This record gives sequence, structure tokens and C-alpha cells, in this order.
Amino acid sequence: MISTFRLVPLVSGTSFYKRYTPMALEYVMDKLKTVFLDRDGVINELIYYPEHGIIDSPFTVEQFKLFPGVIDAIKLFHRAGYQTILTSNQPGIAKGYISEKSFDDIRQAMREMLAKEGAFLDGEYYCFHHPEAKIEKLRVDCSCRKPKPGLLLQASRERGVDLAQSWMIGDGLTDIQASKDAGVRAILIGKMKCELCHLMDKNGAKPDAVCSTLLEAAMKITGVKV
Ligand SMILES: [Mg+2]
Ligand SMILES: [Zn+2]
Repeated sequence: MISTFRLVPLVSGTSFYKRYTPMALEYVMDKLKTVFLDRDGVINELIYYPEHGIIDSPFTVEQFKLFPGVIDAIKLFHRAGYQTILTSNQPGIAKGYISEKSFDDIRQAMREMLAKEGAFLDGEYYCFHHPEAKIEKLRVDCSCRKPKPGLLLQASRERGVDLAQSWMIGDGLTDIQASKDAGVRAILIGKMKCELCHLMDKNGAKPDAVCSTLLEAAMKITGVKV
């Protein structure tokens, strides 16, 4: 990362006043090309809960399993100069499916799984809201829940993202929609089932590519074969 300092006036004003305005050094961070990653279904397996008939996030550390090749993919992004930032809807706490403590335990376990192999994420951004949340403080019609682009845009502001050179990788239509509205290219992980094709057509949100794994997507983005 190349960063520089530049001289800027402490207060803005006309050129006359600027001449007499104290100057300050401002830290200018060059914007970085970035890969935004969805979590469930991209870096870790989804869990089937037969008692409820739903497929959802892992709700215990034991259920949290990284897909093969995820660590190599993250390392490949870093080698190619991309920062990798997790952007994930996690309404499980809002819905009362998982406690904050269990969520944090899973997050910590994920970090340890990566760190053990020398990989890391540059940032983790979660939307914990849900419009029908059981927990009142999380019952918010927010702007960060994908398909809205708020989470990606917040991460972009805070992490100095060069959106024009960046990608989102997700396994759902909502990931693709969010990426289009944030102005980044998108890769869908999964099979291009026709069900999804029709939905994407209808919503005008088509991925730039479809890959079956994160590692395949990483090779596509970086042009490196591993
Ligand atoms: Mg997902
Ligand atoms: Zn939110």
C-alpha cells in the first residue's frame, strides 16, 4: 500500500483567507482494490436444519466448516494486491436463533482457522438487522442489509476501497444486487440454476461470472492458477 501526506488548509475559504490559514498535514491513503466476500455459502458451509426445514448459517462453532481452498483463495487475493473484506447479513441474533456470545465464538473460531494457515481478513462487516426481528433494537429497516449496498459502501469509506477495481463474491441474488448498486463486479458461487437466472434477469442483476468455488473465483480475478 502506498500512502502519502499532503498539505491542506485547516479551514476552507476563499484564496485570500487560505493564504493566512494554518496548514495541516493530511494523510492520504491510496484506494485499494478489494474483494468483498459473503460468508455463508462462500467461505463456510451452510447448515440444513431438518427440524425447521431450513438451510441457514452455522449457529455453533462445531457447525462452522471452511470450504476447501478458501485459505488459498484469500492468500491469492493478498498476493495479487487485493484486500479481502467480509460483508455478511447475519440476522440470526435478531431472529433469536443464536446468542451474541455464540456469534462471537464462531467469529473467533473463523479467525483462528485462517490464522493457523497464515491467512487473514482485512475487515469484517456484518448487518445484524432484520425488519421482523424478535429483538427490538435489531428490528430495523436498515440500509446495510444486502441486497442494499450500504455494507459495501460503509466498508469502502472506512477501508479506502477503489470500487472500480473491486469485486463481490457471493452465493445469492442479494449479493449480486448489492454489488451492482455499489458499483463493483460480481461473481456468483454456485451453479447457474435457471430459477436464479430468471430472478437475475427480472432484477437486472447479473453476475459477471459464475464459479463453483471461492478458489476458482480467486483464480479468475487474479489470473493466477494454483
Ligand atoms: Mg451466502
Ligand atoms: Zn443492517
